[in-house]
Formats: sequence, structure tokens, C-alpha cells
Amino acid sequence: MDTGSLTKQAEATVATDWEKKFTQVQFYVTREKRTELPLSGIYLNNTELGIYYCVCSNAPLFSSEKKYSSGTGWPSFSEAYSTCGRDENNTTTMKRPDNSLRSTRTEVVCKQCDAQLGHAFDDGPTPSGQGFCINGASLNFKPSSGQ
Ligand SMILES: [Zn+2]
Repeated sequence: MDTGSLTKQAEATVATDWEKKFTQVQFYVTREKRTELPLSGIYLNNTELGIYYCVCSNAPLFSSEKKYSSGTGWPSFSEAYSTCGRDENNTTTMKRPDNSLRSTRTEVVCKQCDAQLGHAFDDGPTPSGQGFCINGASLNFKPSSGQ
């Protein structure tokens, strides 16, 4: 038996599972690190109170309390869920350098499943100036009204 092709088949199955589970945009954004078109995100103008969860792993990523209008065309947040002051150790998001474009940006990913969420910037509304531009496709919003 050719074990090499078996391994390849297993890998293909995993990729197919992700593709089956999510919409095309969700898959491209979270697993292939692409960016959704500006103004295309479902949560851009959502002002409901609640929590935004990772669409892949269901980890709580951002609270509606920290959502703001950045004018970028993507849902934006001033800090990650469970941020305590400047301490981000308990958050479910992780920042890391993204050198895929010529300019160096800071990528924001889910700590739990490594899904790409968006990018962090230094021109946010908080005293720290921090801001997160997040792809709506990587988020799953649940209103806090308990439904
Ligand atoms: Zn996740």
C-alpha cells in the first residue's frame, strides 16, 4: 500500500471539512489569511450589545462595548475581549507580525484555533491608540439578551 498517498488523502479531507463547514468568505479569511472586501462585512454597522465569537472555535474575541466606527470599512474594536488595562494575557486573540505585504502590519489571530481575524493598528480611539480592524467573516455575533 502507498502510505504517501494515504497521507495526502487525509490532508485533503481536513481541508474539505473546513470548506464544508464555512462559507467561502469565512474559509478564505480565517484559514487562508485573505481579507474580505471593505464594507462587505455583516457586522460593520451592528450596534447590538453582545459578544463576537470566533467563527471557527467559538472563542469570545471582542465585546460590543469596545466596537467603534473606524471608517475603514471593517468592523473595528478598541481592545480584545478580557483585556485588563494593557494586559492582554487573558485574551483569546494574539498579535503577530505579518510581513506578507511590503509594509509591515500586525496580524490578529485566534489563540485557540489560529484563525486569521484581521489586523491591529496604532490609530484607534483609546489612550493607547490601539485599534483592531477585523473581518466580519471571522466573527459570530451573539446578542447579550440571552437568545
Ligand atoms: Zn478560533
